[in-house]
Amino acid sequence: NKYIVLKKRPEGKPSLNDFETKETKKPQPGEGEVLLKALYVSVDPYLRGRMRDEKSYIPPFKLNEPMESMVVAEVEDSKKENFSKGDFVSGMLDWQEYQVSDGKGLNKISKDNAPLSAYLGILGLTGITAYLGLEKIGKLKEGETLLVSGAAGAVGSIVGQIGKIKGCKVVGIAGSDEKIKKITEEFQFDEGINYKTTDNIKQEIKKACPNGIDVYFDNVGGEILDAAVLNMNKFGRVINCGAISIYNAEEQPTGLRLEPFLIKSSILMQGFTVRDYAEDFQPAIKQLSEWLKEDKLQYEETIVEGFEEIPQAFLDLFEGKNKGKMVVKV
Ligand code: NDP
Repeated sequence: NKYIVLKKRPEGKPSLNDFETKETKKPQPGEGEVLLKALYVSVDPYLRGRMRDEKSYIPPFKLNEPMESMVVAEVEDSKKENFSKGDFVSGMLDWQEYQVSDGKGLNKISKDNAPLSAYLGILGLTGITAYLGLEKIGKLKEGETLLVSGAAGAVGSIVGQIGKIKGCKVVGIAGSDEKIKKITEEFQFDEGINYKTTDNIKQEIKKACPNGIDVYFDNVGGEILDAAVLNMNKFGRVINCGAISIYNAEEQPTGLRLEPFLIKSSILMQGFTVRDYAEDFQPAIKQLSEWLKEDKLQYEETIVEGFEEIPQAFLDLFEGKNKGKMVVKV
């Protein structure tokens, strides 16, 4: 029974040396417990924040203890009411092949509605983040211009498609021509910008959004955020969902002061943490499921095989190796 721990806190960019795979005996469930076999493990950029020893909305990982993230698992044995062998569940679980749980925080999921891995992406926190970020802060209106960064990633690719469903002009920013092709040809974004092949991102955004930006869904922060804000329309809304471009920075990065632009154009910039909206998760999943059924939404997954590949899959997020949701099949 293998499990993966954080061996040391990364400095700057994390590396494989920060993780270690260990082995222990397969556990046995006690009364009121279930034995879970991990099937799919989600790797997410926000886990980088939990590797720092700092206070946040979620406690830091402890050294030499199993890492955790959202996991889809199968019940292998149950000594708990309402759970049976063969059930599938999702929940915040350890990076461990087999583990016991008292059932708290586990959601039962079904293979009938979607492939099991989708509960880590479009029907999990990823889809919910895209949907609620736009609903709660973006407040998109038909005919507006929506810009999204990390556009070929898990959250970004769904954000852009929701923008199209809502009748908006949608522009995506991503890190390769292949990704731009994907979002414009398969996901129906109106335009795409490869931020790695331009030295003037502000100008590129202006060209792609001649009427200005009404809503910017930010997954990356840093200079791309600055360039987006400089192109915002009056009463524009910025959803600060993620800042992967600075997650590995050891010192607080400095940059452009945005205040004059925010004031001049009455722009709303609001941080978004999906966990603050737990009461809205079910309606969000219902809407996303309907759009999936109606074929209005597509989703992409990058599935890496093998339990021991989890740390590498996590590191690959920072290299942009994924399209859509990065998931490890155990
Ligand atoms: P993604 O699937 O988008 O994967 C990360 C992507 O980020 C990579 O594919 C890469 O694509 C891009 N990237 C990596 N480094 C940089 C960089 N230096 N500059 C610009 N882009 C970079 O991940 P998720 O969809 O899971 O998450 C997207 C963002 O949303 C993250 O910042 C995450 O932390 C945040 N998030 C926030 C939540 C919340 O509640 N606030 C919930 C879920 C996610 P490319 O090839 O285009 O560079």
